[in-house]
Amino acid sequence: MKIETLCVHAGHHPDPVTGAVTAPLHLSTTFERDPDGEFRRGYIYARDNNPTRRGLELALAQLEGGAEAIAFASGQAATSAVFQALSPGDHVILPLFAYYGTPKLVREVYAPWGLQASHVDMRDLAAVRHAVRPNTRLIWVETPSNPLLTLTDIAAVAEIAKAARARLVVDNTWATPLGQRPLDLGADVVMHATTKYLGGHSDVVGGALIVRTEDEFSARLRMLQKEGGAIAGPFDAWLVTRGIRTLPWRMRAHTANAIAVTAFLASQPGVEAVHYPGLPSHPQHELASRQMQLFGGMASFQVAGDREEALAVAARCRIFTRATSLGGVESLIEHRASVEGPNTRAPENLLRISIGLENADDLVDDLREALGR
Ligand SMILES: *Cc1c(COP(=O)(O)O)cnc(C)c1O
Repeated sequence: MKIETLCVHAGHHPDPVTGAVTAPLHLSTTFERDPDGEFRRGYIYARDNNPTRRGLELALAQLEGGAEAIAFASGQAATSAVFQALSPGDHVILPLFAYYGTPKLVREVYAPWGLQASHVDMRDLAAVRHAVRPNTRLIWVETPSNPLLTLTDIAAVAEIAKAARARLVVDNTWATPLGQRPLDLGADVVMHATTKYLGGHSDVVGGALIVRTEDEFSARLRMLQKEGGAIAGPFDAWLVTRGIRTLPWRMRAHTANAIAVTAFLASQPGVEAVHYPGLPSHPQHELASRQMQLFGGMASFQVAGDREEALAVAARCRIFTRATSLGGVESLIEHRASVEGPNTRAPENLLRISIGLENADDLVDDLREALGR
């Protein structure tokens, strides 16, 4: 089946008991045993597994082309499980440009616990190769990256990981399975903050890991979900499953709007730089065209001026809402350096935009007026 059909149907079918077309929301924490004490219907206790979460996991596995998916309470809970699945003394290679929470977890939690980490600019494949140590067990890639939209060649890093006998994890939150297919390109695990495009409506926090094959590592991730307990709750899982049904059409519209908005920004004298992989001027546009099927709805730009000027532009927006997060139907604008704090790599004159599903002309007009003074 093609991805549009999977998005509509994967993980749910009319309820066999009632005929309900929309998947029921199962809130029960516990499930009845058969008279002989068995659980033939497959469910025992809701932290362990529940039908609503299971439906989401089946859908996610099919969307990414993985063997299994494991749904968590947030993107960060999913990320945390990946590092917890390693052992003290193991070494990981992390990207220099990434969602700030990823290196923060390693710095604050897993380094004190014994994990070793190197931070590398993943655009430089020689640097990635050079960072490999005998105890390297994992390489983490985020592409396009937060907040400068740098790209990583997933297939090339997968080769390096394979040679090093390390696992490659790709944070596919920004691209979504519509934008790129990390497992097909050689990644072992895909991570999602389902909070973003998969949920798609800024009303649910969630995360997921999708594995290419079932093995010891995936069994450990599953164990960490069940015993660690940072599970996706039933209503959250239900909302993400619903969001997925319209994902292909939302992603196409996000991309079309982003192409229009970034082309406009690139033509403005008040804009010093625009970062969007779909722009021919993006230094890695060739890689983007090769690796991505859709360029997505995330972009950032640097205003000609300083921090105050960037904040003033955001302050003058009327349709773009000043807020963090991304991937919802509404457009958001954010001064990223303010959010990330002292360890930020975001330039002070940078504004990150999540381009929503409003009419592109209205979005362009909003930015024109905000930049206009
Ligand atoms: C939001 C985000 C995360 C973290 O997800 P939460 O659901 O907020 O925990 C991780 N990676 C990327 C790229 C994100 O945008």
